[in-house]
Amino acid sequence: MKYILTIGWLYPDLMSIYGDRGNIIALTKRCEWRGIHVEVKPITVDTTLSELRNADLLFMGGAQDRQQTIVAKDLLKKKTVLSTMIETGTPGLYICGGFQFLGHYYKEADGSIIEQLGVLDVYTENPGGKRLIGNIAIEVDGLWPMANSKTISNKLSAISQLVVGFENHGGRTRLGKEVKPLGKVIKGYGSNAEDHTEGAVYKNSIGTYLHGPILPKNPILADWLIAKALERKYKTAITLKTLDDSIELLAHDAILKKIR
Ligand code: GLN
Repeated sequence: MKYILTIGWLYPDLMSIYGDRGNIIALTKRCEWRGIHVEVKPITVDTTLSELRNADLLFMGGAQDRQQTIVAKDLLKKKTVLSTMIETGTPGLYICGGFQFLGHYYKEADGSIIEQLGVLDVYTENPGGKRLIGNIAIEVDGLWPMANSKTISNKLSAISQLVVGFENHGGRTRLGKEVKPLGKVIKGYGSNAEDHTEGAVYKNSIGTYLHGPILPKNPILADWLIAKALERKYKTAITLKTLDDSIELLAHDAILKKIR
């Protein structure tokens, strides 16, 4: 069976900083190495709603507030389609400003409010002043049993609970009671520098502050998204071929060594 995945890359020209585009490369390569054909479809202000609906996997990177304001205007036009896709289990990865987009609103440091998708019960406020910057490690629990365990080497699974990345944000995101964080902060700031939570998982969507990019050094996360997308599209259990992740593990460990 020849598998084909379409990755919808939300606003690549406006929402992609601190190496976020590396996530698209990681997803594409990890598919290609397994013989899965990938088409990357940029979702821009010109993209029609039916083109958006064709995406099997969504990705949105981070941005400065100025770009987020521009994107928010267009996103309102795509709100219903995008929300339905997320609610019906289209897998997606949303980084930083992308994570903020899943929530109710983002309040900028000057007090102006940017309305967001409202799919997740979270909101973000930027108090101004100190930005939360640095390498970060989080302990992720409960996500991996959903991943295809056969795709994960023993060595990787031993350390996979620790997801590493780089954060740089002014916004502090607070989660509603029912929202499940992606992980617990071991080192770094996380969603709001107060409650030690980082990111959120909702259905098959992951919101996180981790740039870096996150997927090349945490391949387990990339495979989780790929497996979910294939399972949803082809309505069958998917066993992804194991890849040699030794280089990826070195990158992962290099961040851990830096912040210990
Ligand atoms: N502009 C947002 C903030 O500073 C998002 C930043 C980002 O995506 N890195 O909170």
